[in-house]
Amino acid sequence: MNTIYAKMTEEEIDREQIRLAGEILRRGGLVAFPTETVYGLGGDAFNPESSRKIYAAKGRPSDNPLIVHICRLEDMERVAARVTREARLLAEAFWPGPLTIILPKRPELPLETTGGLDTVAIRFPSNKIAKAMIDAGGGFIAAPSANRSGRPSPTLAQYCREDLDGRVDMIIDGGQVGLGLESTIIDLTDTTPIILRPGFVTWEKLQEVLGNVNAGSLVPDLNDETAPKAPGMKYRHYAPQGNLTIVDGPQDKVTAYINEKISIHRSEGIRTGVICTEETKNVYAADLVKSAGSREDEESVARELFRILREFDDEGAGEIYAESFDSTGIGRAVMNRLLKAAGQRIVHLG
Ligand code: AMP
Ligand code: MG
Repeated sequence: MNTIYAKMTEEEIDREQIRLAGEILRRGGLVAFPTETVYGLGGDAFNPESSRKIYAAKGRPSDNPLIVHICRLEDMERVAARVTREARLLAEAFWPGPLTIILPKRPELPLETTGGLDTVAIRFPSNKIAKAMIDAGGGFIAAPSANRSGRPSPTLAQYCREDLDGRVDMIIDGGQVGLGLESTIIDLTDTTPIILRPGFVTWEKLQEVLGNVNAGSLVPDLNDETAPKAPGMKYRHYAPQGNLTIVDGPQDKVTAYINEKISIHRSEGIRTGVICTEETKNVYAADLVKSAGSREDEESVARELFRILREFDDEGAGEIYAESFDSTGIGRAVMNRLLKAAGQRIVHLG
């Protein structure tokens, strides 16, 4: 398949290209598009064949459900069987924006789109290109992140191209995304609302609107049979090709530990990468040292993380060490993605 490339900005939307994207989506094709979180890979949510194509293009297991993207508040009712009071409160407070709400699904929505579940994940993104494309494509666009399964989510169109060129009909380049981590997912189908994936809409903010919210686990405990299960959590996520280890503890110990590893790996001929911050970028002797921004600026760390993981792949980092971050506020989302990328490998130094 020959992938069509389009380029535009939120300020200057190319109406002709959006019309073409809409046509592709309506006839069952796939379009990768920018959102405020990461790039998505979209298909018509009501067309089971489109959803099958999304799984195939990504190499994604078909029991890992997709998120249905809408561009009008009232369209929630077209995919959810019941729109609860809590769902309305959240939609009013955070939409359009980086929050995904899980509700019971309407029977008309194909099971292919929801990974076989009787619930649906719904999001109304704020990115103007995304909104225009969803509208042009019929209003209901199923989309996971636009990466090959297991790789870090794309924060630039060039990463969609690397992963999906020739596998999708169109890729819309809208520049670097603003946030860089996927949406917060909150499940409203149980007695107490529970966060299945932390993101920019933090636990603290959700509690302000709903009162009691279960923060969920920082990362799914794969051995705990009683823990709530987020679909897809059993799969490898965001993983770089090198071995990633998170190192937690006082900075002087972290520095010493990582520097010792660097010299061991160097003697073995292995290139080592370090994910650090502005404050510490000069303390490591690694081949590849990447600052994700200042520790004070968690939003920068969130925005840069997936780009850094991809760059390490391109640069052949065999071993990667990451500093640890506070898991409050947006830091919770950062640590969740880091722990998943590291296969939960974390070293605690006293
Ligand atoms: P992605 O944006 O690529 O992470 O893919 C969408 C993610 O949304 C899936 O991996 C699930 O974790 C989550 N999701 C989608 N639908 C549901 C649902 N009905 N229930 C729980 N989680 C869901
Ligand atoms: Mg994904």
